[in-house]
Amino acid sequence: MGPAVTIGRPFGIPVRLDASWLIAVVLISWSLAAGFFPEAHPALDASARWATALAGALGLFLSILLHEFAHALVARRYGLRVASVTLFVFGGVGDLRDEPPTPAAEFWIAVAGPALSALLALLLAIPFVAGIALFPAATALMHWLLLANTLLAAFNMLPAFPLDGGRVLRSFVWRATGSLRRATRVTAAMGRGLGLCLMVFGGLQFLAGAWVGALWCFFLGAWLRQAAAGSYEQTLLRELLRGEPVRAFMKRDPVTVAPDVTLGAFVRNYVYRHRFKMFPVEEKGRLLGFVTLAGVAGIPPGDWEGHRVAEFLTPLTDEACVEPDADVLDAIARMSRTGRSRLLVREDGRLVGILALKDVLRFFALKVELEGEAARP
Ligand SMILES: [Zn+2]
Repeated sequence: MGPAVTIGRPFGIPVRLDASWLIAVVLISWSLAAGFFPEAHPALDASARWATALAGALGLFLSILLHEFAHALVARRYGLRVASVTLFVFGGVGDLRDEPPTPAAEFWIAVAGPALSALLALLLAIPFVAGIALFPAATALMHWLLLANTLLAAFNMLPAFPLDGGRVLRSFVWRATGSLRRATRVTAAMGRGLGLCLMVFGGLQFLAGAWVGALWCFFLGAWLRQAAAGSYEQTLLRELLRGEPVRAFMKRDPVTVAPDVTLGAFVRNYVYRHRFKMFPVEEKGRLLGFVTLAGVAGIPPGDWEGHRVAEFLTPLTDEACVEPDADVLDAIARMSRTGRSRLLVREDGRLVGILALKDVLRFFALKVELEGEAARP
């Protein structure tokens, strides 16, 4: 996913719009106005068609948002932290910070979204079933949203992790085997399989000449494959690292640099000698911030003696720091949120270490290699 903007915080949960969502709005409006409406509702004239198509794209957006909030609010009832809901080109994703505590919690959280989509579809079907006559544009819009919500409920209930149906299946396997990891492995394999099917189906559609649907199908399949693999790794990571403090992974006694050191001396005596990508900047035992390689990379070597480290200092913020007793999973979540791969570990205002993502991941890889399936925290 690319850059995202926060557009509101209903129930205190930030709703983020990913830039890729714009692609979906354009594609959906276009295919509604040029394909679905002219065929299913020929009475609409061109301007009504485009206006209804745009309303249809926004209505789909709202339907997905309601679906995601059904998940998020049930998750919160079970005590899970919901960091955000993001809408992107393939729909919505809720960022849950924790794994569900029990199979039952997993089941109800997963089933809430498709249940709400199915309920919306039922409500939208009322005028059609009851034979109530509406404006042509309203009929077309409701017809589309009825189909969209039915599809949302049906597609998401496919038994392939991380789709909702895969989570429902995972809750059953988890309950039957007692192992969240085994349940995730089985259902994630089905997720990768479904992803592959979608990619092949996209390829066949491409040969048949339906290239917009083909591309969308192909990339949805590719995304699903990747999401299935990523979710399995995330489950493993969470299970192996749960409750571990930052202290266990940090590098102690980090090499610090003074702000008045010249850039030439910094490169020679710090960067080339220690080969780190980030150095905390300290003056008389006081932590001022840090300097990164990326920050000084643009300066030509000939000018190094004319600059000092202080000019490239990134001042200290709470986002860049973490306490040694903090949960390492929270630290990793912050890294992925802020795009930093290193955090300064601070205790009582004093620098005590540096936490690097690669050290945590190396520990994780070693543990999986040595203990395999039996790896336990
Ligand atoms: Zn869902």
